[in-house]
Amino acid sequence: MDPVRIAVVGMGKIARDQHLPAIAGDTNFSLAATVSPHDQGVKGVPHLKSLDQLLAEGPAVDAVALCTPPQVRYDLATTALKRGVHVFLEKPPGATLAEVDALEARAKRVGASIFAAWHSRFAAGVAPARAWLADRHIHKVEIVWREDVRVWHPGQAWIWEPGGLGVFDPGINALSIATHILPRPFFLRSGVLERPENRSAPIAARLEFCDTAGAPISMDLDWRQTGPQSWDITIETDAGTCKLSRGGAVLTLPSGTEHSEDREYAGLYARFATLIRTGRSDIDTSPLKLVADAYLRARRDIVEPFHE
Ligand code: NAP
Repeated sequence: MDPVRIAVVGMGKIARDQHLPAIAGDTNFSLAATVSPHDQGVKGVPHLKSLDQLLAEGPAVDAVALCTPPQVRYDLATTALKRGVHVFLEKPPGATLAEVDALEARAKRVGASIFAAWHSRFAAGVAPARAWLADRHIHKVEIVWREDVRVWHPGQAWIWEPGGLGVFDPGINALSIATHILPRPFFLRSGVLERPENRSAPIAARLEFCDTAGAPISMDLDWRQTGPQSWDITIETDAGTCKLSRGGAVLTLPSGTEHSEDREYAGLYARFATLIRTGRSDIDTSPLKLVADAYLRARRDIVEPFHE
């Protein structure tokens, strides 16, 4: 079969760090073009300033990977789907839940595939953790996702704007893992969001969830962490402790620790290729739903201003 001709839209950090290498390493795809208003693109690949320009002037594409901030993703995805072009959505899949539902319905109508790509679900430890937890009794879960925003998101103004999610931009990765590996659904009981007085989005959050069997799940998100960074999920069960660390890359079970090479984006593109070849979509919004619920249910505290 011919490779899927794909354009990468939004040539920022994640496009360059992960999407371009993953596409280059996957024979299911060929990079047909890049699109970005200010970036210059990469040598030897056609570069356009906008998706409209690409679709009007070519080169022809079968799929787009939308690597922009979430606030502009709905319009771009709609433009692509109107032309029957398959869509890969970076996480989070949109700025609102309703717009993601609308995209899913449109993809179905036009017969295109749409993929809400939760990259952390493809971290090495996640699938074995899910299998190990499937028939365990969960006593309690602790999620600690503390990182230094100045290191990981320098100059990303959009992340602090409405729809940018603030500390939930990384925090939703933890929720994408937890919703995937825990055997029961869970929901928010209470929480606190801390928003700097000069920003629109939270810099920290403490959330208390519980699952449908009553097991408590706590979540501690903080962007003010200097020194060692934490991306850990610890799950106490009737058979001992399961710990995912380094964002899901390292799994520790009572039997020992496993650590494999990073294949997150290779896994995402393999999945996208399968969806396209089989005429299906995969658009799970459960992590975004929990973030939206945090905005609905948690208390808001104003904290000191944040300056880069
Ligand atoms: P970023 O570095 O700020 O890059 C975003 C890029 O989007 C910018 O370079 C901008 O291009 C482009 N853009 C904005 N509006 C556009 C439009 N209308 N059409 C085409 N391009 C447009 O952000 P990022 O860190 O790559 O994150 C992008 C998304 O990926 C976010 O949803 C984020 O949550 C997700 N993500 C990021 C990471 C990470 O480690 N950074 C990891 C996983 C997922 P110009 O520069 O040309 O204006």
